[in-house]
Amino acid sequence: MSRTSQQPHAVVVGAGIGGLAAAVALHLRGWHVTVLERARALEHVGAGIAIAPNALRALEVLGVGDEVRAMAAFQGEGGLRRPDGRWVSRTSGEAAAERFGGPVVIAHRAELVALLAGRLPDGAVRTGNPVVSADPDGQVATEHESFDADLVVAADGIRSVVRSALFPDHPGPAYSGFTNWRLVVPAPAAYVPHESWGRGLLWGTVPLTGDRVYCYATAVTPPGGRSADGDERTELRRLFGDWHHPVPEVIAAAAPGTVLRNDVHHLAVPLPAFHRGRIALLGDAAHAMTPNLGQGGCQAIEDAVVLAHLAGPGDDTAAALAAYSAQRLPRTTDVMRRSRSVGRLTTWSSRPAVALRDTLFATVNRFGPRLALHSLDGIADWRPPQAPYAASGDDRAPQAGEAHGTPEDRGDRTR
Ligand SMILES: Cc1cc2nc3c(=O)[nH]c(=O)nc-3n(C[C@H](O)[C@H](O)[C@H](O)COP(=O)(O)OP(=O)(O)OC[C@H]3O[C@@H](n4cnc5c(N)ncnc54)[C@H](O)[C@@H]3O)c2cc1C
Repeated sequence: MSRTSQQPHAVVVGAGIGGLAAAVALHLRGWHVTVLERARALEHVGAGIAIAPNALRALEVLGVGDEVRAMAAFQGEGGLRRPDGRWVSRTSGEAAAERFGGPVVIAHRAELVALLAGRLPDGAVRTGNPVVSADPDGQVATEHESFDADLVVAADGIRSVVRSALFPDHPGPAYSGFTNWRLVVPAPAAYVPHESWGRGLLWGTVPLTGDRVYCYATAVTPPGGRSADGDERTELRRLFGDWHHPVPEVIAAAAPGTVLRNDVHHLAVPLPAFHRGRIALLGDAAHAMTPNLGQGGCQAIEDAVVLAHLAGPGDDTAAALAAYSAQRLPRTTDVMRRSRSVGRLTTWSSRPAVALRDTLFATVNRFGPRLALHSLDGIADWRPPQAPYAASGDDRAPQAGEAHGTPEDRGDRTR
């Protein structure tokens, strides 16, 4: 289907967190936005997602900061533990908020998706519409329709078909060496948030609103594994059943069929650019990273607001996307590398190496900045380049004086 209005048209491929954040940002910037999503419905499953202050500030730009903050902030004490429960390093939600200028929020992924989608005009998101091709000149084809877009945002995730087409020589995702489980269960009591590291094993417990708790676990294992009896709770019990409180209780509280298991892949080789012609790559399509810093989604949200800041309707798209690549590629490559480094530490399995790791962490924690927070220095303190957009209930273009930031910092060199 071709565009019918004169308003510049942005087509977003993928309605994950990155695609929806980009769609909201571009909509608020004055673009007519269409989001094409392969799935028949927006994500209604999923588990928790940590939203660090950098992403929370970006969400404030999109006008949803208050709603996200209300989801569940990490408050009180927490930190890193051993499988027997002894603390390796401790921190607190308040210390994180003070260090990074805002709280870390733990949201339910489906609720964040619904919140973002709800900020788009009716009909903007077209589900059951898998994109089969996207050309740098703005032609986008799904199995059902085609578009001639002024801007294309490829937010189609780690297995991005758009990335493969634009960068055919890129090796694509690599297995990180570990698999991941995620579960959300009712929490009968208030649990102290923690991440606990064992030998090649990791367990995390964090509170969600609504008396729920979000847990995640990883184990070093070959890819493609599944619990022998088809019930991932059995595998969790086998690996974590003798860990400290509340790990066994949480596993016991999980309902059958509710434990998600995914092998963790990432882009081990960074892309040469995040754009080609009128197409911008965003989120996991551009820089899928291991989850160890909880930054994959946060970086996607950062991408979204930076892209909308640089690429206004009517701007020179080529210049805007070159500026987008130049800003986002070095930052996200650094976050990917740092996340991978933390991930490697969690995969250590030899007893002496793990003992050394824990002793080192405990020592650093005693004398230096709190370890868990230190790992987010230079990441969680990021600030978006623009002020919050004014709420827009329609598809109007921004009025004079509504563009945010200076032409220089938007990269508007050609206007
Ligand atoms: C175990 C785990 C824990 C994590 N925890 C955190 C965390 O705490 N904090 C954090 O910030 N990040 C976290 N992440 C990372 C985060 O989940 C991702 O970085 C984020 O979801 C990426 O969003 P996205 O929109 O780029 O991609 P996705 O969420 O993958 O969305 C891509 C969308 O595109 C659609 N799509 C794909 N192909 C097509 C097509 N051809 N046509 C149309 N639509 C298509 C898909 O259906 C999907 O809806 C975690 C990741 C993992 C694996």
